[in-house]
Amino acid sequence: MPKPEPAAQPDLPVPPVEAADGALPIIDLPPTAPQDPRPGISDASPQELLSWFADRGEAAFRARQLADHVWSGRAQSFDDIHTLPAPLREALDGTYRFCTLTQTERRQADAGLTDKALHTLDDGRVVESVLMRYPARGSRRERTTLCISSQAGCAVGCPFCATGELGLWRDLRTSEIIDQARFWRNELAGEGRRLSNIVFMGMGEPLLNADAVLAACAALSDGNRFGLGQRHITVSTSGVIPGIERLTSLRRQYKLAVSLHAARAELRDVLVPLNRKYPLEDVVAAATDYADATGRRVTYEMVMIDRINDTPADARAMAELLRGRLAHVNLIPMNPVAHTPWQPSTPERVEAFASTLRAVGLHTTVRRNRGIDIGAACGQLAAEKAGEPAPAAVQRRRDVIERRSAAALVNGSDRSAPTGSPA
Ligand code: SAH
Ligand code: SF4
Repeated sequence: MPKPEPAAQPDLPVPPVEAADGALPIIDLPPTAPQDPRPGISDASPQELLSWFADRGEAAFRARQLADHVWSGRAQSFDDIHTLPAPLREALDGTYRFCTLTQTERRQADAGLTDKALHTLDDGRVVESVLMRYPARGSRRERTTLCISSQAGCAVGCPFCATGELGLWRDLRTSEIIDQARFWRNELAGEGRRLSNIVFMGMGEPLLNADAVLAACAALSDGNRFGLGQRHITVSTSGVIPGIERLTSLRRQYKLAVSLHAARAELRDVLVPLNRKYPLEDVVAAATDYADATGRRVTYEMVMIDRINDTPADARAMAELLRGRLAHVNLIPMNPVAHTPWQPSTPERVEAFASTLRAVGLHTTVRRNRGIDIGAACGQLAAEKAGEPAPAAVQRRRDVIERRSAAALVNGSDRSAPTGSPA
């Protein structure tokens, strides 16, 4: 694969979506907007900071002093930047917020290997981030992967996802996205550790907030700002085609993950309601274009739900759809969430599914669930914070999910087969 040229970057628009047709939000909180008019400092470009200081008759090195503290994590507020004179620190505080997360609550699980943070925003809404630590093994160095949120809530409404039941409260601003990463970099620095990877697999659909997410990716991968390599940033999408096309046109080395969950249209319409707008064959074609343009293998994510999408027929459909592509399939047993009628696939069914994919040469891994005991599934803690929905609303949601999925399932004998059969 030729090394990609840095290309022109046409600013393709990504149309907004209202709650996807088929979404079932059950927590009735109205949409919100940021309350504090001051932008976050992490969203200020180097150029903007130079101008801010120049407007006050200050030399360019002041902007560098400031940026150094914003990105190194050595300061918790403008007041901690003692290299800047007090009047400048005050003026900065009048223009910008040093951190856009007003409060953060931390929880641990997996004997400290998984850490979760619940960040409160200036409008009182909460979003989650999760840090997963992978200890050194053999010749592999220790790694830390941070999962961050791109929206408060989500409009797509996948019925197995805790964020999906919230509906969309609002898009996160660029600084609110970056500040999750700044928070964890500081926490890790306190332990003498570094952040290895960032994945957009927290709350929200990143490519339905593409302007903010792509600006955050640029800052996170900029050597003069957060400084994480492009290859260490993963954008996960439920299949927003204009957003994938926009990523392709950027010709960056970000990793793309596509949440597929089913290779049959009837079933994917239920599991990922956005499939009615962006059908899976077109999503896979757009993702393949991304792989061709960047030389990067696309990851296809598959949340494994017992006897819903883990049948031999579903495995064969996926093998057919992806065979021969620059792809990696990640099978993730569903984290049990409160308001769906479904259970995770058994390890035997996951293995059988994996063997069908491997039989056609697809690189396939099975991901172990992390942090189930702290509710590490996407949006679970935020949903708990949002309040308990009315029991009748929960029952209605379960009934609708059951009815829609029943119509999309393959025949009964195939469903109950204990093991998959290779294609
Ligand atoms: N909206 C984007 C990114 C956030 S969701 C997307 O859907 O890709 C990140 C990942 O978490 C997705 O692959 C999603 O399917 C997965 N996920 C959501 N709920 C889950 C659950 N209950 N168990 C396991 N994975 C889940
Ligand atoms: Fe939204 Fe992703 Fe959850 Fe689906 S899985 S509801 S797209 S956050």
